[in-house]
Amino acid sequence: MLYQRSSQLFAEAEKVIPGGVNSPVRAFKAVGGTPIFVKSAQGAYLYDEDGNRLIDYINSWGPMILGHAYEPVVNAITEKAKLGTSFGMPTELETQIAALAISMVPGIDKIRFVNSGTEACMSAVRLARGFTKRDKIIKFAGCYHGHSDSFLIQAGSGAITFGTPNSPGVTAGTAKDTLLAAYNDLGNIHDLIAANPNEIAAIIIEPVAGNMGCIPPAEGFLQGLRDLCDANGILLIFDEVMTGFRLARGGAQELYNIKADIVAFGKVIGGGLPVGAFAARAEIMNHLAPLGPVYQAGTLSGNPLAMAAGLAMLQKLNEDESVFKRLEEKTAYLEAGIRNVLSENGVVYTINRVGSMISVHFDEGAVTDFKSAGKGDNESFRKFFHGLVAEGVYIAPSAYETWFISDALTYEDLDFTIAAIDKVSKSL
Ligand code: PMP
Repeated sequence: MLYQRSSQLFAEAEKVIPGGVNSPVRAFKAVGGTPIFVKSAQGAYLYDEDGNRLIDYINSWGPMILGHAYEPVVNAITEKAKLGTSFGMPTELETQIAALAISMVPGIDKIRFVNSGTEACMSAVRLARGFTKRDKIIKFAGCYHGHSDSFLIQAGSGAITFGTPNSPGVTAGTAKDTLLAAYNDLGNIHDLIAANPNEIAAIIIEPVAGNMGCIPPAEGFLQGLRDLCDANGILLIFDEVMTGFRLARGGAQELYNIKADIVAFGKVIGGGLPVGAFAARAEIMNHLAPLGPVYQAGTLSGNPLAMAAGLAMLQKLNEDESVFKRLEEKTAYLEAGIRNVLSENGVVYTINRVGSMISVHFDEGAVTDFKSAGKGDNESFRKFFHGLVAEGVYIAPSAYETWFISDALTYEDLDFTIAAIDKVSKSL
């Protein structure tokens, strides 16, 4: 495949945008080479500026669960755009999407919309602190909750890819209120709570970690967290930015039958437009301004185009629950195919998967936390990534990211992908 035009566009971008990108992982630093510039996308496919077609396993890092340019979403956006694009005043649409989201997700009475997953998690933590009148939070090493200061401490995703899990610019004062735990290690949480009595406002977790590759919660882990939170007056925050409206209608809360106190959303809830949201029972949400003292706001929050896209997406997922079953079946088929060809070709690997989130690690042994996620062979990953791109298959350009499967993928696409992996894995 030729990347002449992508290379030219990247060179132009580098002059005016730091690193040529508006979000670091896009720069291909981990895998080398030139980022691919996208011209358009339809269904399961990306079309780049050089005229190549790629089967997409990123799907905008999750939102495009029904494929690109999904017609009901595109129609909803275009119709709304003709009526004005932002008012800074309330609209009926906001109540409609709020009511629908609340009906789909367990345990929430009220929801507030923001513009990104970062804002959702940041606001969820502020609300937890305001509600409990405590300052500290516990986060897990390798989990990513966006780029707000309190979370850039052993963060996952691009933060690990670039080797800067702790960012300069985060003050020591902020960092001291974020306590770190190891994913899947309840003993660790127990110790942190004992060492900080009545000081911890919240534990924030990705209920299925997706930012150090995909890591499922161990049996009993989420229930253990729930019990420790209940016993100690701590709020449990599920960051369902990746898992929400993806693993089930009601997200990881439904899949694992565990209720969080506050839930953060992003990605699917906006249908591909910039949307995040956070939600909880009324007792907690009523602490937010203008009802309560915890301040949170946004000029573009509840934007009509974003709400129209999100509503069209949620309506589809609400009407047709078979989507989740199909996603599970397609991803299980992909997993089995990948296992088969990697084993036949003698490649050392571990695959983790929950529903339509899957990741391939080039290492043996269970990948259960940040430490074990870091053991993979990055050189093999680089070859794997570029080999797949050459075959017309696009996966995340970092070993620490999850693949997101869309319902637009056909079994022919999956077979094509498995054949490409077979070919590429012979040269690893
Ligand atoms: N939480 C999780 C679990 C995420 O995966 C992400 C983004 N990948 C975020 C929060 C931040 O969302 P955003 O990039 O929309 O700010």
